[in-house]
Amino acid sequence: MKRNRKVKILATLGPASAEEEMIQKLHEAGADLFRINMSHASHDVMRTMIQRIRAVEARCGRPIGILADLQGPKLRVGKFAEGKVDLVPGQTFTLDNKDEPGDDKRVFLPHPEILEAVRPGHRLLIDDGKLSLRAEKCDGKSIVCTVVSGTRISDRKGVSLPDTLLPVGALTPKDHADLDAVLETGEVDWVALSFIQRPEDLADVRKVARGRVGLMSKIEKPQAIERIDEIIELSDALMVARGDLGVEMPLETVPGLQKQLIRACRKAGKPVVVATQMLESMITAPVPTRAEVSDVATAVFEGADAIMLSAESASGAYPVEAVSTMASIATTVEREPHYPGIIYAQRPQPEATGADAISLAARQIAETLKLTSIVCYTATGTTGLRAARERPQVPIIALSPSTPTARRLSVVWGLHCVIEQDANDLEDMVNRACRIVAAEGFGKPGDRIIISAGVPLGTPGSTNLLRIAYIGSDGLSGI
Ligand code: PGA
Ligand code: MN
Repeated sequence: MKRNRKVKILATLGPASAEEEMIQKLHEAGADLFRINMSHASHDVMRTMIQRIRAVEARCGRPIGILADLQGPKLRVGKFAEGKVDLVPGQTFTLDNKDEPGDDKRVFLPHPEILEAVRPGHRLLIDDGKLSLRAEKCDGKSIVCTVVSGTRISDRKGVSLPDTLLPVGALTPKDHADLDAVLETGEVDWVALSFIQRPEDLADVRKVARGRVGLMSKIEKPQAIERIDEIIELSDALMVARGDLGVEMPLETVPGLQKQLIRACRKAGKPVVVATQMLESMITAPVPTRAEVSDVATAVFEGADAIMLSAESASGAYPVEAVSTMASIATTVEREPHYPGIIYAQRPQPEATGADAISLAARQIAETLKLTSIVCYTATGTTGLRAARERPQVPIIALSPSTPTARRLSVVWGLHCVIEQDANDLEDMVNRACRIVAAEGFGKPGDRIIISAGVPLGTPGSTNLLRIAYIGSDGLSGI
């Protein structure tokens, strides 16, 4: 199956898309990889979803990435005697360590370390910011607050603390158990880490993951933005998690942060996903709003690697329509006359490595000679990532002998991955490349392609060779 776009689509699975038939429809409509949200999925549900995705993958013959998204340290208040209470701005309301039902004066906060970390003046945003409190008095056991805005609070609502560096790591006990279950399947390609705050959070997870999954840092806390360079350095990919980011930071700063994060990731050559509310109204309607179309288009114009659907595909009424809408916005934007210029204006300089010099040259040759595609051999995925970093106008066919590499690269801009054994010699390499380009529908006899590889073949990190080849009438190399 050949896609006519560079940006990838990441669709979250949930009750509306749990069946194998639906997963297949989403894949056919354009979903390149799937997210399993561990905040909602039990281990059994996760394993069933994985098995169904892999069945679809086997049937469709394209490597499909799977991302398990860990809940992270999401803080919640306890319950209320009446389920909910109404508050008045200006009144006093306390969060404390008493495990008793709440009322309009107080509620339990089942996180002792947070009771100790909050300081007077810090903001506490409840229920995605619908209720805003300001801490006035903190004694380590309770936080006495003033209600700043909003009126309603109910059972187990989320609490965001944008001003407080939380004394918690990236993984809660639930996350540890979830991560173990995820790794045990051996079938998950990416793990997303929610609410990470510091580079050390990643180091801890890396020790557990031991290279078995790629680590995607969800940027949704101001503390993560403050140390973003170090966090990118230690991550394999980033998610612009606009949902919680827009609660913890002023909403109007999110578009600028999105640009900053995408540029930083493009410079680092690490995949970046733009997430949340991209087609929100399609949860209940078969068509999006103008603003949503524009938002998806912006992410595509910025050169994001992937755009994500959350509830639209997980629990909405129109999951397939949401994916196909996203796909057609992306395809249309990428054909806009201004698209290449906008993408290229942000192209980072190559680093002084063989892989970057070759990727740059491959793009220039492909564009100058109007070749149909760039083929790169990539065992670990690094060469594929560096080729994508150049954001060439032509498709990149990434050949890898490793199924996990091919699946992991499904999130990367412009890469069409094919699982293929390493070539035996140079002639075999050229023949295989021509045959695959023709078979995958990216070129026909008489077309020319450019191939990058490393000699000796099969040695990771040795990209040092470029070769222009004709596709012959037998689908092999014509020269
Ligand atoms: P979530 O993450 O959907 O898991 O909350 C994405 C976001 O916060 O935008
Ligand atoms: Mn989030």
